[in-house]
Amino acid sequence: MSLKILPQNISNLIAAGEVVQRPSSAVKELVENSIDAGASSISVIIEDSGRTLVQVIDDGIGMTAEEAKLCFARHATSKIDSAEDLDAIATYGFRGEALASIAAVSEVTLKTRKRGEETGTRTQFSDSVFDSQSETACPEGTNIAVRNIFYNTPARRKFLKSDATEFRQILSEFSRVALVRPQIAFKLLHNGKTVFDLKKTSTLKKRILETEGNALGKELIDLGVETSLVKVSGFIGDPKDARKGSSNQYFFVNGRYFRSSYFHKAVTKAYEKLVPEGYSPSYFVYLECDPSSVDINIHPAKTEVKFENEPAIFEILNAAVRESLGKNAFVPSIDFDMEGVPEMPAATRNGFVRPPKIDYNPLFDPFRSDSRQSACPPRPSAGSPVQNFPGLNDFSPENLLSPQEKEICGSEALLTDGYLPLMEDKTAPSDFFLPVHGKYVITTVKSGVLLIHVGRARERIFYERYLKALDNSKPMTVGTLFPVIIDLTPEDYSVLMEDTDRLKQIGFDIQSFGPSTIIVGGVPDGLSPESDAVRNTVFDLINTFNAAESLLVRKAEVRQNIASSMSRSAAGSTSRRISASEARMLTESLFACTEPERTPDGRKTMEILSMEALDKILV
Ligand code: ADP
Ligand code: MG
Repeated sequence: MSLKILPQNISNLIAAGEVVQRPSSAVKELVENSIDAGASSISVIIEDSGRTLVQVIDDGIGMTAEEAKLCFARHATSKIDSAEDLDAIATYGFRGEALASIAAVSEVTLKTRKRGEETGTRTQFSDSVFDSQSETACPEGTNIAVRNIFYNTPARRKFLKSDATEFRQILSEFSRVALVRPQIAFKLLHNGKTVFDLKKTSTLKKRILETEGNALGKELIDLGVETSLVKVSGFIGDPKDARKGSSNQYFFVNGRYFRSSYFHKAVTKAYEKLVPEGYSPSYFVYLECDPSSVDINIHPAKTEVKFENEPAIFEILNAAVRESLGKNAFVPSIDFDMEGVPEMPAATRNGFVRPPKIDYNPLFDPFRSDSRQSACPPRPSAGSPVQNFPGLNDFSPENLLSPQEKEICGSEALLTDGYLPLMEDKTAPSDFFLPVHGKYVITTVKSGVLLIHVGRARERIFYERYLKALDNSKPMTVGTLFPVIIDLTPEDYSVLMEDTDRLKQIGFDIQSFGPSTIIVGGVPDGLSPESDAVRNTVFDLINTFNAAESLLVRKAEVRQNIASSMSRSAAGSTSRRISASEARMLTESLFACTEPERTPDGRKTMEILSMEALDKILV
């Protein structure tokens, strides 16, 4: 082996790996260049999720013929002259790496005309090498077309995800810039169709609503605090619009998007007592601070930034959010009746601020077979002889399980089959079942008192049930009461529509209903078919899919995640008091589970209060 300097095109290729990881990286870099060039209108044209074409057209200052040739060289930048400039970067770019990297992995055509000049130039590059340049008639500004990205690095091209996923990434990059530049008009076209046509506006709020669409909810609350360290502005969502998952959450510093789980906590902590566990609000938080106190130069493709005074900014941000929520009358009031509110975290019970909006259908009870608006008649099952006698008391234990449930949980075999024998005699429930305010069931066991958490028990029972249904791949669909139309963000829409087969397999009937709108005609049996509940379930699914993708979790885990989020929805969708016989049924079904003691995510479903513990209470 001899030591040698790599040829330029190879070293460019290696560097390109840092900057251009997928078509969306090209979108980001090109759009940022357009903004740096002072454009007031930017169009992004995409073909095949960027595989075939990423084109960005702006009306910025443009480039001379000389600049057009030079801009593809490594470290060619017009944005930095001296090392001091690095401390106060006002533009997006400054490394002079993006165009060189893009040209290393694609075929690039650049048409540009410098402001004030008569004609423009057309410059072509491929494989990092200058191809040709000619004079051309074109409007002032720059038009860069990036074709066949990764054509020369097949391994990378192969590594690209599905079209929907790649396009979703493009949408995210697009939104991240559009959301900070309301004064710039943005267009996004995909395969000839207009996805966004955002007009110039002077108000950020309008831009946010246009970009994020109806999925956002109705209210956005102003955020505004100015300290010597940082200026905080932007908008936060009404607590009642909070939802599960995390889209519509944006941080920007000095006009640049960034990610921060630390600051995320600063915001969500202020909502702690206002939204149910697992829900989080939308937010659009814009920070402004001295550029020299932020380090954005960590990695070209990363979205983390370093702040000099993170803990202080955390406190300011948290206070700002609390203040805005306070101003908008989300102030503490007296405690309210917890009855019927499923699964509130214990910590939020004191000084509860106001009842969160929880979507549930009070009439729906998945433990009652007659309450499901079954689209398909229940399948006959060997374990359900009472099915033939609909006249029987609704609340008789046998009637509380559907044939499917019986199939899974068993009915007669409950107490002997599965878990109980392993628990030995000391935890075998007696014949006494006392429901307590719909939230707990108390029963006696030999060693004392067994306390069961109703909501969590349901989660466990449903979880095992869904898991089994998924394994059997026998979808059981229940028609929704009315078709439920849900507006999603374009990102969420792509995630969901990416895998409609899998959705069908689990029992969902979801179809496209407009560019980022879906229509839900059916949900898996056991989930509430009521509109609000359906909505929540869909967001649960999106979160599950999102998590699955980023973690590349195995298929089995996706399945478990789906079962677990479905079980949470199902468990949360019922809330009325339960009768003694239902309490018994619940207990029996729980003990028929393979892992009855905890919810799928590890919370306790039950606790035994021993005689000794009881004795201590009344010393
Ligand atoms: P950087 O943005 O870090 O300077 P790039 O490789 O992205 O590096 O761009 C190199 C140079 O090309 C820029 O500094 C700028 O002078 C010029 N340039 C790129 N895109 C445009 C554009 N849309 N309009 C005008 N000039 C541009
Ligand atoms: Mg740049």
